Amino acid sequence: MARDDETTNRRSSPGRSPIRTCLATVVRSVEVTPRMLRLTFGGDGLRGFDGGRQADEHVKLFFPPKGEPIPVLPEFGPEGLVFPDGATPPHARNYTVRRFDPVGLELDVDFVIHGNGRAVEWARDARPGDVLGIAGPAPGSHPPADADQLLIAGDETALPAVASILERLAPGTRAHVFVEVADRNEEQCLAAAPDTDVRVRWLHRDTTTDAEEDQLADAVCEFPWPDGTVYAWVAGEALTVRTIRRYLRNERGMNRHTLHAAGYWRRGKTVEEWLSEPEDTDR
Ligand SMILES: Cc1cc2nc3c(=O)[nH]c(=O)nc-3n(C[C@H](O)[C@H](O)[C@H](O)COP(=O)(O)OP(=O)(O)OC[C@H]3O[C@@H](n4cnc5c(N)ncnc54)[C@H](O)[C@@H]3O)c2cc1C
Repeated sequence: MARDDETTNRRSSPGRSPIRTCLATVVRSVEVTPRMLRLTFGGDGLRGFDGGRQADEHVKLFFPPKGEPIPVLPEFGPEGLVFPDGATPPHARNYTVRRFDPVGLELDVDFVIHGNGRAVEWARDARPGDVLGIAGPAPGSHPPADADQLLIAGDETALPAVASILERLAPGTRAHVFVEVADRNEEQCLAAAPDTDVRVRWLHRDTTTDAEEDQLADAVCEFPWPDGTVYAWVAGEALTVRTIRRYLRNERGMNRHTLHAAGYWRRGKTVEEWLSEPEDTDR
């Protein structure tokens, strides 16, 4: 048996249905911004999909090999996701559940159109009727209800999760949000839950002349620390996330109960190349 070995081969959480796998069909493709494409998936396979109830859920998507109509699917068991004997596991990547409608059986996933990668190529070329595999959803990390101040930082890959978090904030929460995108055309309208105070600061890469500059990390490190119970949620490029994580741990005393920091992708490396690097103890 070949085991799927990617990062978020997680189990379900208490109170949720077990993680399951299915095939889903592209229903439509809509440009959210010039570099963000929303694919809506449908089909009977999504019946019983236990997603869309919480913030920051994600799925693992399995992309068909080039020239083949459907990918081979793993099954979820005690060992995690397991492929049938002899099967070559397809290209698989994690994506956030942007929206799930359990009645209409529609799942929205927002793809950053970033350059070269099998996932992004497939999404760019996807047409109604195309099929991919889905495993999940897996729960993410969302702010505890008792956090009165939230610090949220991410790049455009984190935007679908950030949007889902803001839509579900508890009343009375204040959120300070930093999002790095390519330019102002990539800004999205972020809706917040009622009775919340959300301040969003957009950072544009096109205004940066220094290739070494890390605007997102700088913005977080320079942010005047708020009073009250603070919870931080950070996701995006792995080295940027590492810088922010180190700052929040070392300078602000945050720990795994108050900080969720997840590298989503690694500049210049595929996910497989990134994960085959020696484990960074600070990851
Ligand atoms: C829990 C989780 C949730 C995620 N949710 C989303 C989501 O909702 N939407 C989304 O778009 N992404 C999301 N991602 C990130 C996505 O999985 C990665 O960007 C993934 O690497 C894309 O796969 P690929 O096959 O296109 O490229 P890969 O084969 O992984 O990489 C090919 C090349 O593209 C580069 N690359 C990869 N991603 C980017 C990027 N964003 N910008 C610039 N260059 C890049 C790599 O550095 C590499 O050089 C999520 C990741 C995780 C872990």
